[in-house]
This record gives sequence, structure tokens and C-alpha cells, in this order.
Amino acid sequence: MYLSEKFQSISPSPTLAIDAKFKQMKADGLDVVGFGAGEPDFDTPRHIKDAAIEAINAGMTKYTPASGTMELKQAVCDKLKADNGLDYQPNQIVISNGAKHSLMNAFGAILNPGDEVIVPAPFWVSYTEMIRLNDGIPVIVDTTEENGFKFTIDQLVSAITPKTRAILINSPSNPTGMLYTKEELQAVADLAVEKNLYVISDEIYEHLIYGGEKHVSIASLGDKIKDLTIIINGVSKTYAMTGWRIGYTASNAQIAKVMGSVQSHATSNPNSIAQRASYAALTGPKDEIEEMRATFEERRCYMVERMNSIDGVSCLMPQGAFYVMMNISALMGKTLYGTTITDADVFANLFLEKAKVAVVPGTGFAAPNYVRWSYATSMENIKEGLDRLERFLQEK
Ligand code: PMP
Ligand code: GLU
Repeated sequence: MYLSEKFQSISPSPTLAIDAKFKQMKADGLDVVGFGAGEPDFDTPRHIKDAAIEAINAGMTKYTPASGTMELKQAVCDKLKADNGLDYQPNQIVISNGAKHSLMNAFGAILNPGDEVIVPAPFWVSYTEMIRLNDGIPVIVDTTEENGFKFTIDQLVSAITPKTRAILINSPSNPTGMLYTKEELQAVADLAVEKNLYVISDEIYEHLIYGGEKHVSIASLGDKIKDLTIIINGVSKTYAMTGWRIGYTASNAQIAKVMGSVQSHATSNPNSIAQRASYAALTGPKDEIEEMRATFEERRCYMVERMNSIDGVSCLMPQGAFYVMMNISALMGKTLYGTTITDADVFANLFLEKAKVAVVPGTGFAAPNYVRWSYATSMENIKEGLDRLERFLQEK
């Protein structure tokens, strides 16, 4: 069959694939525990759902402006001012169908064939594929656990070539949960300004930060870096709204215009009802958001402590998001249930098959010695999952 080489070269999202497999096993009646998808297990807060129901009843069921409603753009500007100290105008905001769509728009807006984007690894699975879909080349900078999964400025400098167009920053990070400090971001900002590089700053986990740490948006570190930054954010994670599909960008007005034009042909506006719900999320009470964050923090501490007490595996304490990267390098070459562990895929498949626990192998994150556990699930599940891990590793 004749098909696009570009589209054919893209593999399906492994995070979504694990989640689909887990859901299917559960539907088949299997006693499986899932730590796959990064999706809050909480329901969307009541006042947000009510706003959507009211929107339907009020007839907000028509097309909106392609790049989003004015009220939501204004609410995003107000949020950026209040949370990040940033001044943006509505013409600098584009509302899209989830932060994933915002990222696609952003790469599309700044890349020409052969342009390079620096992506620190371990990275969230979709970045590299999206860069390729937009004819760019991802240039991977490997970080180490010893360095807290953070790159150094020297590493960034060595990765820059005449083709480099942008640096991708995801802080707090999926999958490592690490957070860049203001000083570290300042160094990236200085480099980006000096070399005239864009920064795509994925801040979707900005409100899921623990241990009293604080999120800093790189765009807030000066007018020049603000002009070069495309902020990616959305309501999925903070407001437990993954299914509503609303994300947004904040950028200079020229980039926003280009993205808005493409979106006007590709998808038109994001769902009108979900936009109203997102408006309610951004402008409404925040107490439930804090409760969810505090619950994630408790789970994080439990998971990390338990994992580090189990022989053969270990992990760092993440500072944000809702993921733990479990280091399985000590298991490489060992035999469990008659299978030799050679990489994270083998481990994750065996763990799912024998212990009925779904985790994401690090392979898709360019971290073959790790598997990712999401703690966006109940404490009961977390305890059960770790009990199973303990028993699984005792098997010979
Ligand atoms: N960025 C990161 C780092 C993510 O983990 C996700 C979660 N899927 C997204 C972007 C996209 O979020 P959404 O499309 O649900 O808004
Ligand atoms: N971001 C989440 C994850 O990493 C959701 C799945 C996805 O969109 O890839 O699990």
C-alpha cells in the first residue's frame, strides 16, 4: 500500500499503548495494577463540570474563534501574570486540543526541514516524534542520575550546531520528575539569547511540585528570553482534565499568529464546552487543586521509600510531576522466571505477565535501564504494586 514515509516512520505512543493494554486486561477480568499512563486518578472538580453543563444549556455549542475564545485567552493571560509574573496579551495566546496539540503547533511554527531541536533525555515519548513529524531533527543530550537527570550547560553548548533552532525544556519533567532551578534556567536563557535559539518550555506540571520547591518559567527571566520562548501548558494535569483536551501556548504574537492560522485549517477551534470548563478551572477556586497536589506528594514519599528498600532496584526522589524512574540496572543479566533481564522492555513485559503490574519501560524515554511508575493512582494500588514488585524480585 502506498503510504507517507514520514507518517509510517512514527511509532505509536508507548505510554498510551501501555495504558490501553492495562485497561484491556482489567476489562478482561484480570487482577492487574496499573502505573502506566500519567493521568490524575481524581475526578474533574465539580465546579468545572458544572461550568461545562451550563455552557451546553446556554447554547455554547458553536464554533469559537479558531485559536480560542477571548475569555479563555484572557484567563490564560491573568494566570501567567499571577503564577509566573509574565505579561502577555490575548493575541499571544493560542488555545489548542491539549498540550500535545500545542507542542505540534509550536514545532510546526519554528522548524524547517533539517532544523535541530535539543532534547534532554530521558524525555517524554512524544517530543522526538513530533519534531520528526515537523521535519526537524531531535538532538538528544543524555543526562545522568548522578546529575539528578539534569543537563549541564557544557553539554548544551556541545550539542549546538549551525542547524540548531531550539532547546526543549520540560520542568518539572516527565518522566524524571526533576526540576530546574532559577539559576540553571538563567544559564539556559543566557545561552539561548546569545545563540538566538528558541526555547520550547513545557510547563504542564508546574503546579505539581513537592517539598516546598518552586516552579520558575524560563520566560520570566528577561524580555529577550521571553520573546524566544514558547510556553506550553494546559489543564490536563493540574485540574484532572485529561479527557477535555485543552492546552495552550504563550509566545510572541508573530508565532501565535502562524500557529493560529495553521490551526484554523487543521482543527478549527478546540471544543467550545471544554474551553468554558477550562475558563472555570483557571478562574475558579484552587483548594481542590492543592488537595490533589498534597495527595500526590504523600504517594510520592511512600513509593520512593518503599522502592529504595527493595533489593535490586532504586530511585531518586522526584521534585515534581507524578512519576518515579526506577533504576533496574542491577537486575540486568539476572534471570527471573526463566527469563534473562536484558533491558527495560523485557523487565516490563515479564512484570506485567507474571505479577500483573503495568509500568512503562524506559526505552521510549531513551532510558533503557529504567522503568517509569506513575503515582497518579490510589495509595492502595501503590502498596499492592510494590508488594508485588517485592515478591516478583524474590522469584528465581
Ligand atoms: N507534556 C508532557 C510532559 C506530558 O506529560 C503530557 C501528558 N500527556 C503532555 C505534554 C500533553 O498533555 P495534554 O495533551 O493532555 O494536555
Ligand atoms: N503524558 C502522559 C504519560 O506520559 C499521558 C500519555 C501520553 O500522552 O503520552 O503517560
